[in-house]
Amino acid sequence: MRAVVTGGAGFIGSHLCERLFDSGYDEVWCLDDFSTGRPANVAGLTHRRGFKLVQGDIVHGIGVAGKVDAVLHFASPASPIDYLKRPLYTLRTGAEGTRNALELAARNDARFVLASTSEVYGDPEVHPQTEGYWGNVNPVGPRSCYDEAKRYAEALAAAYVRERGTNAGIIRIFNTFGPRMRAGDGRVVPNLIRQALTGDPMTVTGDGSQTRSLCYVDDLVGGVMRMLGSDIAGPVNLGNPHELSMLELAEWIRELTGSTSGITMIPLPEDDPKRRRPNIELARTKLDWQPSTSVAEGLRRTIAWFADAPSAP
Ligand code: NAD
Ligand code: UDP
Repeated sequence: MRAVVTGGAGFIGSHLCERLFDSGYDEVWCLDDFSTGRPANVAGLTHRRGFKLVQGDIVHGIGVAGKVDAVLHFASPASPIDYLKRPLYTLRTGAEGTRNALELAARNDARFVLASTSEVYGDPEVHPQTEGYWGNVNPVGPRSCYDEAKRYAEALAAAYVRERGTNAGIIRIFNTFGPRMRAGDGRVVPNLIRQALTGDPMTVTGDGSQTRSLCYVDDLVGGVMRMLGSDIAGPVNLGNPHELSMLELAEWIRELTGSTSGITMIPLPEDDPKRRRPNIELARTKLDWQPSTSVAEGLRRTIAWFADAPSAP
């Protein structure tokens, strides 16, 4: 069995490559341009038989010859600071990159899984978010390059299912965290952990009352594997419904690290969603999946990883 993972050298993608081997895949191809991922994330796999790491931008094509059984499409900038720096690249990756990945799956009659995002719900007016909610996205705001790229990618996957009969499934991933996030990638968990460990002020945006629901990466990858093993088109929400405010999160991380850092309030970025919580009934009933790692346990493991890798970029 051969799987292709686009964005496989990134945070989630690298955990997924490992899990594919553990689940019986004997060949895993990891396609990545190392724009936000890095070879070090898959260093543990490079000597493994059946693992292939290919550097290249998937917008320019995906050159994989031979039979492919699964395509897991995870390539895309994901952190706001990454996609805000490169809006056009983000849109092209979501559009042309997704089309190239879908073509590979369609050519091979392979199962295709699209890593979409809770960002398709924008600043949601429905809470918690169910898959039936169409979202509230500002189409021209700074985050639109990411949100609309993912919405287009979903539309493309749905069209391949309808017109070409491709076995494609969409997952909407809610905020996920864990080891191998870049310390400097700007997302809230690595930022706060890095600041707490170095004694720097911990930055919380706005008044810190905005919420997110955080899922530990091992749980999330379990959900991706369930989606891969199904023939459900979705979309299916994957996330941990444990919702907390960003101020609570900062206080929690401070306590878990034993840090004496202060908490500094900084301006809320434009269009920052006020709340986020997945309704995961569909994942529970159709995929028999739900997260099993508590947020506290996930944070402990992530803190331990960052403490051991202080020079992580
Ligand atoms: P990440 O930045 O660590 O990983 C993305 C990977 O894709 C990187 O290795 C990057 O180098 C690669 N990449 C980006 N554009 C590419 C291109 N054009 N060609 C080849 N490689 C390219 O981010 P992540 O958090 O691991 O996110 C992985 C996927 O999951 C993304 O599609 C993201 O939108 C989705 N997602 C993540 C979260 C989360 O909380 N982490 C939430 C929702 C959705
Ligand atoms: N955030 C914060 N401090 C930081 C970085 C982010 O309070 O140092 C906030 C951010 O404004 C948002 C939330 O934390 O309200 C989650 O941000 P992240 O970038 O991790 O994910 P996203 O906004 O894409 O859900």
